[in-house]
Amino acid sequence: DIYGAERANSKGFDLTAPEKVEALQASMKAALTRPWTAGPIVGGQTLDGPVLPVSDPARPTRQVGTVVSAGPQAVEQALSLATAAQPGWDRAGADHRATCLERAADLMEEDMPALLALLSREAGKTLPDAVAEVREAVDFCRYYAVQARTGLKPVLLPGPTGERNELHLTGRGVFACISPWNFPLAIFTGQVVAALVAGNAVIAKPAEQTPLVAAEAVRLLHRAGVPGDVLHLLPGDGETVGAPLVADRRVAGVCFTGSTETGRAINRSLADREGAIVPLIAETGGQNCMIVDSTALLEQVVDDCITSAFLSAGQRCSATRVLFAQEEIADKLADMLAGAMDLIRLGDPMEITTDIGPVIDDDARDILVKHATRMDGEARLVKAVSVPEILRDGTFFGPRLYEIDGLSRLKREVFGPILHLVRFKASDLDKVVAEIAATGYGLTFGVHSRLEGRAHNLFKALPVGNTYINRNMVGAVVGVQPFGGQGLSGTGPKAGGPHYLHRFVTEKTLTVNT
Ligand code: GLU
Repeated sequence: DIYGAERANSKGFDLTAPEKVEALQASMKAALTRPWTAGPIVGGQTLDGPVLPVSDPARPTRQVGTVVSAGPQAVEQALSLATAAQPGWDRAGADHRATCLERAADLMEEDMPALLALLSREAGKTLPDAVAEVREAVDFCRYYAVQARTGLKPVLLPGPTGERNELHLTGRGVFACISPWNFPLAIFTGQVVAALVAGNAVIAKPAEQTPLVAAEAVRLLHRAGVPGDVLHLLPGDGETVGAPLVADRRVAGVCFTGSTETGRAINRSLADREGAIVPLIAETGGQNCMIVDSTALLEQVVDDCITSAFLSAGQRCSATRVLFAQEEIADKLADMLAGAMDLIRLGDPMEITTDIGPVIDDDARDILVKHATRMDGEARLVKAVSVPEILRDGTFFGPRLYEIDGLSRLKREVFGPILHLVRFKASDLDKVVAEIAATGYGLTFGVHSRLEGRAHNLFKALPVGNTYINRNMVGAVVGVQPFGGQGLSGTGPKAGGPHYLHRFVTEKTLTVNT
């Protein structure tokens, strides 16, 4: 059953009961008193080196832990140990590897308060976002375990009498997994466990901003039975860790989530390399649009826009960046959105009353400020939510809504809580579709319309990975909305989908004359 009907997703944590939330916050705070450190984890050992602080984006003076970056020696050691260990891990079989993933899922659920605390303090995640993220990481483990058990077994193929034919799937070798800070546990874990369960050794490079939660995930995977020589962690920057890994002939595949530019640079580096031609699995940016026509239920549209454009501080690659509103309802929708934006509460991510935490760091905020300054000059500001004085130390950015005269005003993806509204005439719907397709991105797309035929035609017309009709556009669920885009947004296959693991393996046939 490759679609996993027999499997249930994680339940996460009930945030509706105040006493449970208080108990959870207390255990998160207790977890934060531990001395959190991340360093290169190579061959199961954490290596020493010069220590740098990891700070909290909500209050940068507050140190969450420390990190030691990997240097060239750690990179070399990880590559040589991983290369030597991979064949044994592959031979251990899909069932054994799946069991390790299932144990890791259980350990993550047990370790939930620490993981939530790190997500909240290191990555600025609100409680609902942090809970959803732990759930997603757990779901990736259990989902890929089921996929491996059912889909990676050798199969007997039909053939002539006197001959036995078999198809075997094996790991490709050493995979480099390069992951982003916006889902520092879920995407990190998803990449790593997919590569592992398919029979590869893994060298994981977490985002520079979020090494602590990645190190905790690796420790849990090791405790779950993944050998130290098979899974290595190399915190550090792209230049010192990512680039040499990708350029090394011992790396048999790369799994990357991040910007389209970095994805292209990795692709170039792989193409320039001597030796085998190896796969790149890339999930990159988006310029995600939502089309709202005059039949839409506007209260629902507003709710879904707030969720898709502003929650998680807009730091999802699935987030809505452009809202196309049919002219008859555009003013009303803009007014309603502005009213709803007034209710958004920025604050300490660990408080249950907070809707939006900080953006990840100064650089991220600078880009948003720069974009807003440009928009102030060439667009109509509909609404700007200001950042309360008490939060001024953190890297907070208040949500903004601008009206622009066309998608071409946006040169590139702007990763934060800024939504752009474009009004369109009903007779121009085809032009809107052409404009969206012309961006070259194809990650997520939303439609709000009570004309079922129209919504489905829009779905068919656009080359986009995830389309959502009459709901929000974020929070794809493992096994339910397999996630990933096309064109400038990625290579596929979709994470959390039935075809993902197959990109991490190589196929061998065996024919025996009996
Ligand atoms: N899977 C996430 C979602 O559906 C987005 C992943 C990302 O931002 O990279 O919202």
